[in-house]
Amino acid sequence: KRQEVGPEQHGIDPTLVDDRALSVVHTLKEAGFEAYIVGGAVRDLLLGLRPKDFDVATSATPEEVKSLFRRAFIIGRRFRIVHVVFGRGREHEVIEVSTFRAYMDAAAAESVEGNERTSKAELAGMHHAVHSSGRVLRDNVWGPQEEDAARRDFTINAMYYDPETRIVVDYHNGIADAKKRLLRMIGDPATRYREDPVRIIRAVRFAAKLAGLGFKFEPKTKTPLLPSLPLLNEVPQSRLFDEMLKLLQTGHSLATIEQLKQLGMASGIYPLLDLVVERAEQPFVRAALQDTDRRVGEDKPVAPSFLLACVLWADVRDGWADRVARREHPFPALQAAIDEVFDARIGDISGRGKLGADMREIWMMQPRFEKRGGHTPFSLAEQPRFRAGFDFMRLRADIGEVDVTLADWWQEFSQASDAVREDLVEALR
Ligand code: ATP
Ligand code: MG
Repeated sequence: KRQEVGPEQHGIDPTLVDDRALSVVHTLKEAGFEAYIVGGAVRDLLLGLRPKDFDVATSATPEEVKSLFRRAFIIGRRFRIVHVVFGRGREHEVIEVSTFRAYMDAAAAESVEGNERTSKAELAGMHHAVHSSGRVLRDNVWGPQEEDAARRDFTINAMYYDPETRIVVDYHNGIADAKKRLLRMIGDPATRYREDPVRIIRAVRFAAKLAGLGFKFEPKTKTPLLPSLPLLNEVPQSRLFDEMLKLLQTGHSLATIEQLKQLGMASGIYPLLDLVVERAEQPFVRAALQDTDRRVGEDKPVAPSFLLACVLWADVRDGWADRVARREHPFPALQAAIDEVFDARIGDISGRGKLGADMREIWMMQPRFEKRGGHTPFSLAEQPRFRAGFDFMRLRADIGEVDVTLADWWQEFSQASDAVREDLVEALR
């Protein structure tokens, strides 16, 4: 089953391989361990794409990995991995190193399912218990590479590349599937979705990301997707929220929404995602999605707060207008409208304080763009989140919600020297 494929067959361009990933693999091998680039990076290399990030899989334990690098940090408890860090500040890069994991959760899940005396409700509870405890157990039980490969999701995500020998190790015909442009789940798809329902969302993500290259689902991988959707109820909201963001930040958000519709999953994954799909036709939200796709395509950072602020803007704007019409003061009215939207649409985003705070700031900045007298524009332009607030206003101008000349003025102001800024403010009088 194990296939080793050389460069003349897989055709990977070695210049697409990141130097840091190469050095991590080299150091681990030098120390006597097995080490490979793994997962999405190998998939992308095989498809001729430059991977966004590189993961390394190794036979070394997290402690052994940590001891080999100057700046390495063991992170995660249920799924312990090592972050090897290169460079500093904005330019810093992290190579994620994980130890080969043993495969055992399918058997555990099946044995619960097989107990006929267990009621459905109990099953759901136990399944969860077994599932989560099984995870704790499984995820830090080290095993051979073959088992590590079997617990990965799609065949194209389960290959190992040694950048020194340039050999790809493939246990599940990933290379053949990549050639055939086939998205195929390893093992029995329905069982794999049950083990970890988030794989349903991952399936959508990869289908959308790779649709442009001609990828299609293998039918057996696709058929159980929709029927498995209710399983997502077992998944913690925070994980669904994170997966939703990944779906929207693949650089192919519009293709993702298309994919969701085609699969009959336009709703049902996560309430906020339902809303994104629903509103994707609105010019403002569409522009925000296109903007996000463009930025990802250009390798620029994207902030989830910006996109979500766009998606929820209609609610904020309307709630605000209602309050102002009832003679509330504009500033507290906006604040109250924002609170209402957070309660109704986001709920408890504990642990996501920064994201919520950033959204709030983008919205609260909007009325301030209208005030261009005195010192106001100077202090606004110096705000750390000015850029996001301005980009948001620019999108509003694009759809005719604010005057284009206002957006142009701010564009000029933000790029000008202090002397020119004085002139710009003066010219308004
Ligand atoms: P991307 O390019 O979007 O980062 P990726 O394939 O690298 O895609 P990651 O989420 O970074 O996806 O995960 C890295 C690898 O870990 C995957 O390629 C896959 O082999 C494995 N993996 C991640 N999540 C799961 C999961 N829920 N079930 C099984 N395997 C998973
Ligand atoms: Mg990845």
